[in-house]
Amino acid sequence: MSHAPTTGLGGTLARWRQKLLASDDMGAESQDETGRESGPLRMRREVERRKALYDDIGAFLFAHDLDLTTLNFGLALDYITGNDLAIEKAVRAILQDKGRLTNTIAETIIAEQRVDELTPDSLSDMLTKVEGNLEELTGLAGQSSSSVKDFGAELQRGASELAEERAGGDTIAKLVSLTRTMIERTRDVETRMREGQKQTRLLQKSLENARKAAEQDHLTGLPNRRAFESRLREEALDARGTGDALSVAFCDIDHFKIVNDTHGHDAGDRVLKFVGGLLSKISGEKCHVARHGGEEFVMLFRGKSVAEAAKVVDDARADMAERNLVDRKTGERLERVTFSGGIADVFGYPEPRDALKAADRALYLAKQHGRNRVYIAHDIEE
Ligand code: GH3
Ligand code: MG
Ligand code: MG
Repeated sequence: MSHAPTTGLGGTLARWRQKLLASDDMGAESQDETGRESGPLRMRREVERRKALYDDIGAFLFAHDLDLTTLNFGLALDYITGNDLAIEKAVRAILQDKGRLTNTIAETIIAEQRVDELTPDSLSDMLTKVEGNLEELTGLAGQSSSSVKDFGAELQRGASELAEERAGGDTIAKLVSLTRTMIERTRDVETRMREGQKQTRLLQKSLENARKAAEQDHLTGLPNRRAFESRLREEALDARGTGDALSVAFCDIDHFKIVNDTHGHDAGDRVLKFVGGLLSKISGEKCHVARHGGEEFVMLFRGKSVAEAAKVVDDARADMAERNLVDRKTGERLERVTFSGGIADVFGYPEPRDALKAADRALYLAKQHGRNRVYIAHDIEE
């Protein structure tokens, strides 16, 4: 369909143009001879422009039944003004595809933009800024210590003049002024240093947030694949040193596509959150659970043999298979949701990632043999 959108950039621009034309009629006599608008007219236009913008944002949030969060507000603002082209494009694509936004989709769009921000370039930019700040701080400290030295020398000279009684009112006045300058300079350096420290702290916080966003799955709140893979490498190194067993599991929801097809993508998302929540209950100090992508979850068990890890995963599978899920938003009852799993011994393969692949192959066989079951890799590979 190619109708002009009623909400969205096209409609907004049309409304703005109308409003501008209307205020042109009213304010024609307020222009001076050069044709420039007078101050009050400009201000009135600015107020009206803002009012229209608030109205448009409100209408947008209301039309899509979006919660009144700062993030949704920001998304609406970026979309309506076209300030952020990536957001505008992502929202437009969803509107074309699905006709409307939901809170979850809005969250996804925002989260995706955030991860996009975390390019190696942006990270290196941030680091350069932190470095620059630190350098400035060190420079300031050096500057302040060299002015202290100058001040010391001047003070000494003044003191010896006083001791030799050569000093007149001049020397005393000079010393007083020197001391004043010194106090001012120290204060100035102190303020700038405090400002620099504040900026450095803010940058460190941004870096920390960026790192967290890059390692977290925004839908389930679980660590993502990237976080899991680095954890797998770390734990493998460490467990090899301590001689601990280390097992890895790959789980995949059965026939998940049917959930989406029958109840919609949003209901699918809620099922994903539910399964993520169920699996994260077994997560802890010695068990790491992550969303590998799509409807796949991975787990790492420190200090558990494959048989022990398989027991934990199979208990979670049985727990899940007994649940009758109801979609709270629609009241619809869902078919049973089950998942299948594959387990492998991390040290049974040359590399940890080979063990993950072996777990995936065991999972594949569990699927082939009827789903809703957990297989151990060596059972089927020997
Ligand atoms: P199988 O038992 O063989 O695993 O069947 P399946 O339907 O679970 O597997 P398939 O790979 O055919 O389909 C997976 C579906 O998962 C397709 C994809 O649209 C959906 N999916 C992936 N990520 C998400 C997501 O974040 N949200 C929702 N709602 N669906 C997702
Ligand atoms: Mg899958
Ligand atoms: Mg699946």
